[in-house]
Amino acid sequence: MKKLILVTFLVMAFVYPAMPKGDVKLKNIRYYPYSDYTRVVLDLTGEIKINEKILPGQSVSRMYFDLIRCELDRSFPPEKKEGIEIDAGNLKRIRLGRRKTSTYRIVFDFDHIGNYHMFYLTSPFRIVFDIFQERDNGQTPETIIATPSTPPQSIDGNYSIARQLGLGVHKIIIDPGHGGKDPGTSNKSLQVHEKDLVLDICKQLKKMLEEHNNKYEVLLTRDSDVYLSLEERTAIANSQKGDLLVSVHLNSAPRKKARGIETYFLSITTDPWAIQVAAQENAVSTKSIGEMKSIIEQILKNAKISESKVLSSMIQEHLVKNLKMKYNEICDLGVKKAPFYVLVGAQMPSVLAEVSFLSNSDEGKRLKTPPYRQAIALGLFEGIMAYIKSLGKG
Ligand SMILES: [Zn+2]
Repeated sequence: MKKLILVTFLVMAFVYPAMPKGDVKLKNIRYYPYSDYTRVVLDLTGEIKINEKILPGQSVSRMYFDLIRCELDRSFPPEKKEGIEIDAGNLKRIRLGRRKTSTYRIVFDFDHIGNYHMFYLTSPFRIVFDIFQERDNGQTPETIIATPSTPPQSIDGNYSIARQLGLGVHKIIIDPGHGGKDPGTSNKSLQVHEKDLVLDICKQLKKMLEEHNNKYEVLLTRDSDVYLSLEERTAIANSQKGDLLVSVHLNSAPRKKARGIETYFLSITTDPWAIQVAAQENAVSTKSIGEMKSIIEQILKNAKISESKVLSSMIQEHLVKNLKMKYNEICDLGVKKAPFYVLVGAQMPSVLAEVSFLSNSDEGKRLKTPPYRQAIALGLFEGIMAYIKSLGKG
């Protein structure tokens, strides 16, 4: 079945009301190239005014945009100054050059332009391009740019496109939060880090899914103690064409009595607690979360929100059910929405589960024991299974 391609162009988000106070520096251009999807990330020292008219160049094989009042940072990798040869999928290279005083032009050379999304993340400020190989039949890049975002896919209805078409789930991407230099939340008295506990849970979950009739291909975004940026995790899920993305985390709160389980899907929120959790997981201030509102609103037009909502409610239900069978005082904090960076741009139903509070002494102690982590993995497994069954393809 031909993958449905949704057209998005998020240019509005780049018209900033305020000019940056000083010159902004371009620190790096990172890229995650795959055969039919590439994510490019520009790391900047602050918000920047970007030439809002992003146009294809002379031919359809080129796209450029200008970073206004921008300089290269001293730390910018010298080997990238002359351009970056990518040659994976349709994106062949990225070139950059000073256009006039303090304006940098970034040029993407394609062999053909498919669909692309562009958005920004904050703290530090970065611009993200998701570039796809394919585009809708018969559409030229110009029409793609001129086309307003497609209407939402029945955000609250029960008839999402996946369900209407009876699309099944084959590949599941499991994302153990944090890793490497980023330990996530820690419990000092118990001497445990979120990154290690969630990795163990995710490895068990992978095994359970793989052993289920050998039906599913399961991929971990990391299977050891390594650092991965939030952008890279989504890039892995998209490039691998995952049908589901489940990111697993541990919660923490200044109030030591806080405990329980909650599962999130991507959305904007006014709930102060959800904002705090998202800020913590995104490693940004709660203020930055508020500033993300407009970009998230636009991304949501094409995100698989109704499916993500169903997936999160099934995961939440089964996590709580499984833990309640063996443990007392399991607190169901419910399904919530918040703007998690790791879910931004994900092309598949995606959720983030906060499976217990590491800051709570009871739950922290339980998390240290293998049976509790196994019960969590089983809850996640059953939640995913229940979701797949609900598609009629279990
Ligand atoms: Zn986390």
